[in-house]
Amino acid sequence: MSPGRGRLVAGNWKMHGSLASNRDLLARLCVSLNANQGAEFAVCPPFPYLAQVSAALTGSGITWGAQTLCENDHGAFTGEVSGAMLRDFGCRYVIVGHSERRQLYSESDALVGAKFLAAQRSGLLPILCVGETLGQREQGETEAVVARQLDAVVALAGVSALESAVLAYEPVWAIGTGKTASPAQAQAVHAFLRGKVARMDSGIADALVLLYGGSVKPANAVELFSQPDIDGGLIGGASLVADDFIAICKAAMRNS
Ligand code: PEP
Repeated sequence: MSPGRGRLVAGNWKMHGSLASNRDLLARLCVSLNANQGAEFAVCPPFPYLAQVSAALTGSGITWGAQTLCENDHGAFTGEVSGAMLRDFGCRYVIVGHSERRQLYSESDALVGAKFLAAQRSGLLPILCVGETLGQREQGETEAVVARQLDAVVALAGVSALESAVLAYEPVWAIGTGKTASPAQAQAVHAFLRGKVARMDSGIADALVLLYGGSVKPANAVELFSQPDIDGGLIGGASLVADDFIAICKAAMRNS
């Protein structure tokens, strides 16, 4: 990766955790990770645990975020959570366009774009996820799919919005399946995405933090993170296991 570009490892806890198990996990992270190790580390718990995470991590150097947000800022949207509410709890990041939201909750490219805008209106950094299904990969559609997902956001927000965002390539077939994209497969898509942004603005492309997500584990993290266009990871299952998440974070540091 470029020496000038930041590096980030973010844990997506999905709908897992409890007050008790989070307490142990957060205590372990605080002991082993801090912000002065050449990389940034973040966790994205379910909404009800944001207060606990904020209390445990304030002052630790580890940052936190949420897994989704409402595209509207306030109003009669029962069950929804706004960007401003997430900021109230100290969130720095919010994941938008995760494939589980796209597939299980029918979030369209347009809705993902609206959520991206809402995040930035609230001062949050969106982690925009893009990625193809196995069928799309087998049909040779990977680049077209990730380009369409990115274009939907750029069309709404403009390329300059990518200055205050993180992009995560997460092949759907690799999420939670134990199947990881090979470092070469992941690097090829990352290079495609960076090249696409570079054709719009080369400075923004050079500075854009591009994460890989999809069954990242301690055993494959070093090789993935040593690819020139992979700046870190979005980690699901392994972010719930302290030893594994810490090892993955250290792999990002080793590649500083
Ligand atoms: C994810 O949830 O974004 C993810 C990449 O999950 P996993 O690491 O479990 O594949």
